[in-house]
Amino acid sequence: MQNITERFLKYVSFDTQSDANSSTTPSTEKQWEIARYLTEELKRIGMEDVSLDEHAYIMATLPSNVDHQVPVIGFIAHFDTSPDYTATDVKPQLHRDYDGEDIVLNKEENIILSPSYFEDLLMYKGQTLITTDGTTLLGADDKAGITEIVTAMEYLIQHPEIKHGKIRVGFTPDEEIGKGAHKFDVDKFGAEWAYTMDGSQVGELEYENFNAAGAVVTVHGKIVHPGYAKGKMINSMLIATKFINALPANEIPQETEGYEGFFHLSEISGSVEKTKLEYIIRDHDLGLFQQRKKQMLKAAQNINESLGSEAIEIDIKDQYFNMREKVEPVMHIVDIAEQAMKDLDIKPLIKAIRGGTDGSQLSYKGLPCPNIFAGGHNFHGRYEYIPVESMVKATQVIVKIAQLTAKKV
Ligand SMILES: [Zn+2]
Repeated sequence: MQNITERFLKYVSFDTQSDANSSTTPSTEKQWEIARYLTEELKRIGMEDVSLDEHAYIMATLPSNVDHQVPVIGFIAHFDTSPDYTATDVKPQLHRDYDGEDIVLNKEENIILSPSYFEDLLMYKGQTLITTDGTTLLGADDKAGITEIVTAMEYLIQHPEIKHGKIRVGFTPDEEIGKGAHKFDVDKFGAEWAYTMDGSQVGELEYENFNAAGAVVTVHGKIVHPGYAKGKMINSMLIATKFINALPANEIPQETEGYEGFFHLSEISGSVEKTKLEYIIRDHDLGLFQQRKKQMLKAAQNINESLGSEAIEIDIKDQYFNMREKVEPVMHIVDIAEQAMKDLDIKPLIKAIRGGTDGSQLSYKGLPCPNIFAGGHNFHGRYEYIPVESMVKATQVIVKIAQLTAKKV
């Protein structure tokens, strides 16, 4: 697995930033470049049925090398990077034998990656870290995942003595704008289950994520000259404030953790005549999630009743659901990943994601899909970094999962 660093550095040299305001798939033309490159590379290492479809989704097959029946499994990663931060001209820096001290990313601009702020760095003393030069993100999210999957497939091809069933590989565009799973053809993929290689720290294994909805609250007011407004003006901003205050003050992102859900006011714009509030609603528990949506509707209703008008309109749309419901009936797929880690002396860190993954959408499209660590930290910004050793471990986990799945029971 010597070429893992080289491979990763090649992938991050492509600018693959996605764009939430685009209506095409992929959302940006530039994602095609890496898509074509990966397609060729998969062929070059000896994968079969390599396909690149009209939306830049890549699929490929590693055929089984055993005679007995083995479930078809898949590994999935995304090649786009976050619209939050530039990925143009990424200049990765290698830091061998990391000494646990501050890393100067950029001398001129005094940009420093420091363990006094990012304590996770101290876990990687003595390892080889790949960082940015402080001016872009790195793109370990999720080019590390792609590196690990390609490297694992290459390893299995070069080591036919390792027994495995049929393995499918899927690389997608546009995960960072929530659309990676949208045009993913689950039937064509044809796997019984899959894993996204898109988590962070070594050991992470996730099969629970939020249930998610978005709410747009529109408040209607009435503008009248302020000097003659008595009994006539309706200030939508003040009504909006009432609505904001009607929701529990401590159920917000900065006051919650673990399995605690929240309402998050993400945007506000207003004038006397009209105020718009945008919320996201999150909860791991489906019952509590439904209750939160009702709670919002009720808050609007109460205010409308007190005003004797329909001043507040509210539109709530579900976004994605907790994959737990789809994974729990097939828990052996989590058990296999956990066993693979234990066999490799990696301590599994099983926790609920406070967010969503492509795997949650895929799970609801019929492809149960837990998430496994890819090794990077501080995604979506200039402090992003990844230890090479973590990529090696993730690659070994993929190989081990393939092996365990093919074991006769
Ligand atoms: Zn990702």
